[in-house]
Amino acid sequence: MDPWQQQLRDSLAAPAQLAARFDVDAAALEAVCARYPLRITPHYLDLIQEPGDPIWRQCVPDALELADDQPLDDPLAEEQLAPLPNVVHRYPDRVLLLVAGTCATYCRFCTRKRKVGCRGNEVSLGEVMAGIDYVARMPSVRDVLLSGGEPLLMSDLLLKEILERLRRIPHVEVIRIGTRAPVVLPARITEGLCALLRRTHPLYVNTHFNHPRELTPEAAEACLRLADAGVPVGNQTVLLRGVNDQAAILEELFRGLLRLRVRPYYLHHMDLVRGTGHFRTRLESGLEIFSALRGRLSGLAIPHYVVDLPGGRGKIPLVPEHVERLGDQALLRAPNGERVEFPNLCPL
Ligand SMILES: *Cc1c(COP(=O)(O)O)cnc(C)c1O
Ligand code: SF4
Repeated sequence: MDPWQQQLRDSLAAPAQLAARFDVDAAALEAVCARYPLRITPHYLDLIQEPGDPIWRQCVPDALELADDQPLDDPLAEEQLAPLPNVVHRYPDRVLLLVAGTCATYCRFCTRKRKVGCRGNEVSLGEVMAGIDYVARMPSVRDVLLSGGEPLLMSDLLLKEILERLRRIPHVEVIRIGTRAPVVLPARITEGLCALLRRTHPLYVNTHFNHPRELTPEAAEACLRLADAGVPVGNQTVLLRGVNDQAAILEELFRGLLRLRVRPYYLHHMDLVRGTGHFRTRLESGLEIFSALRGRLSGLAIPHYVVDLPGGRGKIPLVPEHVERLGDQALLRAPNGERVEFPNLCPL
């Protein structure tokens, strides 16, 4: 068995296992896990230094997940933009293919918390192939994003089959893989995987580091291995209250990523997803942090600060021209000029 598969098998997946290691209320966590799944790889678990720290908050269930009264499971209206259950087609030239329903470690702030890791949301091979057929029928699509769930939990053999099928579609120019494996399961980035990716160029990988403590030697090796295979690696960070909502933390993260030849791509404002309210920040604090970074970091290290507008209207960069009004009901301008209300929620 490959070391990465061993890591998966040894993952922590029950509150009782957490209670054996830390001082937590297993019963309270059971209630959360009945709704939102728990899994933490040994690699990621070992990064926890103490309960409540930035690694802990990202992966350990919290009773606040059940207390969040935000009404929307799917604020980005992904289900309405889905021609098939596992295909999100919002922009003419780009399609999101959800090729996996599970992850190596479940992020408590996940945008697809409504389904990722939940029973009945496994993605079958037939559904993946149907998604590829959909792309083949849509000549406007140039860019296919493999997402999920964690696409890299599948075997190299299956991934190879999917990539080759996509490559046979003449209008598909770019393939992107969205993966948190370099962060939570760096052993997955094997030489064999990199050899496969190298044969599929132009292929881009976007990974998902949120905190400088995630930049371990193993993660560094994974990122450099991808870069050495000629894969441009980008990073999407979610701005998370109590995890990374300070300019100094993000500065250290973005500098560290550049040293690993990973280009910060997006800094996501939290989506209004039910069960994630305790991670939400105000748009004002996001913009303030962002302006502070502007002065301190090279442009290469600065991602776009984006908010995904409710109702599937699309991502916009948060720069002053797009902010019409702040306050409790912020008013933001969509790319088409439409004014969109954005509830500026945060706990307390
Ligand atoms: C974010 C997103 C994309 C990719 O957008 P880029 O800005 O090109 O990275 C594609 N489809 C959907 C539905 C998305 O949410
Ligand atoms: S790895 Fe991605 S899809 Fe999986 S739980 Fe984390 S944010 Fe969600």
